[in-house]
Amino acid sequence: MDQVFSSCSAVIPTISGKTKLVGLVGWPVEHTLSPLIQNTAFAAAGLDYVYVPLAVRPEDLPQAFSGLRSLGFEGVNVTVPHKVAVMSLIDAVDRSAELVGAVNTVVFTDKGTTGYNTDMAGFSASLEAQGVLVNERRALVIGAGGAARAVVCGLLEGGVQTVVVGARSVAKVEKFAASFDSGRVRGYAWDSASFTEAVGASDIVVNCTPIGMYPHMDQSVALDWEVLPSNAVVCDLIYNPPFTKLLTKAKETGRKVVGGAGMLVEQGALAFELWTGEQAPRQAMYQALRELVANRS
Ligand code: NAP
Repeated sequence: MDQVFSSCSAVIPTISGKTKLVGLVGWPVEHTLSPLIQNTAFAAAGLDYVYVPLAVRPEDLPQAFSGLRSLGFEGVNVTVPHKVAVMSLIDAVDRSAELVGAVNTVVFTDKGTTGYNTDMAGFSASLEAQGVLVNERRALVIGAGGAARAVVCGLLEGGVQTVVVGARSVAKVEKFAASFDSGRVRGYAWDSASFTEAVGASDIVVNCTPIGMYPHMDQSVALDWEVLPSNAVVCDLIYNPPFTKLLTKAKETGRKVVGGAGMLVEQGALAFELWTGEQAPRQAMYQALRELVANRS
């Protein structure tokens, strides 16, 4: 395959009539890092695929999906605000998407379209890659949005003992916690005494809010470091910057940390594998993300 080099070390394949199409459906999609990561992966694996961002307004989603089918797309990633709405536009929903209640990857075949959720397994794989075990551990999740749902599902699948979710809105977090019928998830306002008590009994903390994300790197979710066990693992889903203020403080206090790059790459790698049937070149994907984040910051 002929190749040209972009400003990063990414290798972009030459597009021909045989090139297979995949992409990202979202609104907006201007800031996505996935095209660079996925196109680097296709090039590294020697596969003739191209990944394109596809900005689709919510009201145009049904039409866009039938268009993707007609255009012969192999599959797509789906991001905000379409992750739930897309479920009514596909033929089958995999267990992963059923559990999370959202689809982030669709595979198109002659037999129909199937929706998957690779965020959940991507998060779990990012912990495994760092040697972090969740079985029988007590987890603390901060934030109660879409990513938190995938994280909580991953933790429950991994055999976690309990998950305490903290968010600024008590009504939202209680509803969020009640939506899991495992009996292992509780939700509290993050300024409550119950939440502080849970901090003191946590083995793993996961920030699932955008607080501390570029360009607001001086911000951090509030965590009582005196109360948090000294051997707790602290994770942040944010990947830009790679070391948020939260992770920096955790590291300074001697705790193990896991950043969001792992989840981003692992969920993308799983989508790559669903589309192509080939093993994803994870190291090339991590490297592409590292370079991109360094360039953007
Ligand atoms: P979301 O659905 O909008 O949920 C965000 C959550 O954070 C909500 O609970 C929200 O509370 C809370 N929140 C947001 N801003 C806040 C603030 N200033 N103060 C207090 N709480 C705040 O977003 P999401 O899709 O779950 O994404 C959350 C983060 O995860 C983002 O930074 C995203 O980039 C990251 N993420 C990373 C990956 C990865 O692969 N590494 C994947 C997905 C997401 P309210 O409901 O009260 O607003």
